[in-house]
Amino acid sequence: MSSEKSTNFIQAIIEEDLKTGKHGGRVHTRFPPEPNGYLHIGHAKSICLNFGIAQEFGGLCNLRFDDTNPTKEEQEYVDAILEDVRWLGFDWGERLYFASDYFQQMYDYAEMLIEKGLAYVCSLSAEEIREYRGTLTEPGRESPYRRRSVAENLDLFRRMRAGEFPDGAHVLRAKIDMASGNLNLRDPVLYRILHAEHHRTGNRWCIYPMYDYAHPLSDALEGVTHSICTLEFEDHRPLYDWVLDNLPVPCRPRQYEFARLNLSYTVLSKRRLIRLVEGGYVSGWDDPRLPTLAGLRRRGVPPEAIRKFCDLIGVGKRNNLVDMALFEYCIREVLNLTAPRVMAVLRPLKVVLLNYPEGQVEEVQAVNNPEDPAQGTRPVPFSRELYIEREDFLEEPPPRFYRLAPGREVRLRYAYFIKCVEVVKNPDTGEIEEVHCTYDPQTKGGYAPDGRKVKATLHWVSAAHALPAEVRLYDRLFTVPEPGAASGNFLDDLNPHSLVTLTDCRVEPSLGQAAPGSRFQFERLGYFCADPRDCRPGRLVFNRTVSLKDEWEKLKQKGAV
Ligand code: ATP
Ligand code: MG
Repeated sequence: MSSEKSTNFIQAIIEEDLKTGKHGGRVHTRFPPEPNGYLHIGHAKSICLNFGIAQEFGGLCNLRFDDTNPTKEEQEYVDAILEDVRWLGFDWGERLYFASDYFQQMYDYAEMLIEKGLAYVCSLSAEEIREYRGTLTEPGRESPYRRRSVAENLDLFRRMRAGEFPDGAHVLRAKIDMASGNLNLRDPVLYRILHAEHHRTGNRWCIYPMYDYAHPLSDALEGVTHSICTLEFEDHRPLYDWVLDNLPVPCRPRQYEFARLNLSYTVLSKRRLIRLVEGGYVSGWDDPRLPTLAGLRRRGVPPEAIRKFCDLIGVGKRNNLVDMALFEYCIREVLNLTAPRVMAVLRPLKVVLLNYPEGQVEEVQAVNNPEDPAQGTRPVPFSRELYIEREDFLEEPPPRFYRLAPGREVRLRYAYFIKCVEVVKNPDTGEIEEVHCTYDPQTKGGYAPDGRKVKATLHWVSAAHALPAEVRLYDRLFTVPEPGAASGNFLDDLNPHSLVTLTDCRVEPSLGQAAPGSRFQFERLGYFCADPRDCRPGRLVFNRTVSLKDEWEKLKQKGAV
């Protein structure tokens, strides 16, 4: 994959705008989340794009909460979104805004539209409005209320605001064109009555503006030049323009649409994410299996990996499905260079070195990260009794199994060659309880002076020194690339093994002080992080971020990508 930067179509548009002096040479974008859920990796694409464009062109990017729907929005979401954007590495400076701050100005603009004969109060029910709207093949019909006088409209609109009517009694609609080929222009609703408490404006308002009206006005009031949104808003652009062209706004932003991110083996719609959280299918918004930024953070994904991923997938005009393996590749790329390597044994099997002196302890020097010599080495205690991974020993090894087996010699990483001489089993169950070996004192550091080779290197911990730990093996949340596509119900495609909790693991003693959230490579196993919530000295808990198996590399080698 080439790391060379290519220009996406939005950058090209901005370069052209700068050349022609549009917007007076300014570049001003915004990221406009609705605080009705947590941010996910799809939002990260939009954040990287909007903040990235501002950085690249010396412009500004606002963080604006699009909080015009009080029934679904909450302060908890506002707080979480602020934390997530900051964590991802972006800074909105002083420019934190709320659409609700503009409610009065938007209301005043609405009265202007009424006075210009461009908006009217309609008293059809929601269902009637839908019926009158027509279809893609049939023109709509005009509402019987469309000819109300300006005076009557103003009076009704003011009384709507004053709280005289129940929810649904009236709406304010733009007067555009009921025969338009674009359904969004068939007298779209601008305001509805909603007697609901807003998380910021309380009960001050009982009418709320619709997205298509509030969004262009918020952009214009903030001086936004390039309003970048996802493709499903393409058909809304004429309405965006209509609102701005008919009101005396201080600035004239333009809307551009790009393809949203779709990622395989997960879901990126808030509606579905809410079902997973509220239905108890995951432990909360920060469950490490979710594609939410809070979940990815808790899983141990570094923000650089998300930014790198957003960079790699680029920004285009066509919707597609990005392979989860590409995201995992980005995570590994970053962690490979940054995460210190340590030894942890997930399913311990005891090894006794019969010829190693009882009570003796020595320290071997382990390399912290071979990719980065600056990370140095650390001492790891070695002694007569060790633990290795249960799956690294087989009493009757099949042909391509090169790890430990009776009579066979292998290397213990950074330590010695050992050779299996005896297997100790539980007399009742037949289960292997211990493996007895001898070690070769001549092979300190893991190399034989006589040049003899072994086919496997195992990780290990010293039984007396290792610390107990819980390890949570997270895997993809769904078993199919497009959850629900074939089954009809995305919940039917949940991966029953997306979390396997191992409570009897052993980790090397250096992990005793692991800071919550810190990331490691457990040698030969994968990347893990100290759970930010549950891990502390005395109760070690690690989350698997991603395994070492690099499917992406494999696909590349096969020439499949
Ligand atoms: P959802 O579809 O998950 O409910 P939304 O679009 O309703 O998300 P908003 O809070 O309105 O969520 O989104 C804020 C911004 O993030 C919008 O500009 C939206 O276009 C963008 N965005 C949301 N989902 C994606 C995605 N999957 N890929 C890229 N951008 C996205
Ligand atoms: Mg939205």
